[in-house]
Amino acid sequence: MNNKKLLENLRNVPDFPKKGIQFKDVSTLYKDASCLQIMIDELYEIYRDKGITKVVGIESRGFVVGAALAARLGAGFVMCRKPGKLPWKTRRATYQKEYGEDCIEISEEAIEPTDRVLIHDDLLATGGSMQAAISLVKQFSPEKIYAGFIIELLIEGLHGRDCLDKDVEVETLLRID
Ligand code: AMP
Repeated sequence: MNNKKLLENLRNVPDFPKKGIQFKDVSTLYKDASCLQIMIDELYEIYRDKGITKVVGIESRGFVVGAALAARLGAGFVMCRKPGKLPWKTRRATYQKEYGEDCIEISEEAIEPTDRVLIHDDLLATGGSMQAAISLVKQFSPEKIYAGFIIELLIEGLHGRDCLDKDVEVETLLRID
C-alpha cells in the first residue's frame, strides 16, 4: 500500500541526463508530505533496533531523507561529499565511473570506531557510488555498516547489490524492474 503510493508519486524522466537513461526523479517523493513521511517511517522501522549511531548521506539526494532519518533514530548525520566541498581535513575514496575517476570525501573526525553506521542514498543503480562510500566509511573502522536506499533499480541487468561488500546489509524500500 505504502509502496504503491511511493511508486505512483515517483516521476520517471526518459533520456535524462542522456539518451537511454530512465531517470527516477525522487524530488516528487520529497515534495509530497505523506511520501516523505512514509519513506522516513519505513526506513526507521527497518533500522530502529540496529543501534545506528551515525547516518552517512551521499551527496546530494542522500542528504534529504538521510538527515531526517538520523534525527528520528537519535543518530548523528554525516555528509559524504564531492571533493573540495568540505572545509576540514578529510578522508577520501576514489572510484571508477563510466567516464574516468570520481572521488568522495568525509571529514576526518566524523566517524568513530564505536559507531554503527547506516549509509543512505536515494537510489542503487550499478552500486559504484555506494561501494565507494562503503570503502570510505571502512577507513574509519566502525563497528558495523548498513546500506539503505529508497529505490533499487533492477532494469537492464543492473544488480548493484552484487557489487557491494558482502559484510554490509542492504535494504531498499522499492525495487523497480
Ligand atoms: P550507481 O553508483 O550507479 O549505483 O548510481 C547511484 C547514484 O546515481 C545515486 O546517487 C542516484 O542518485 C544516481 N542515479 C543513477 N542512476 C539513476 C537513475 N536511473 N535515476 C535517478 N538517479 C540515478
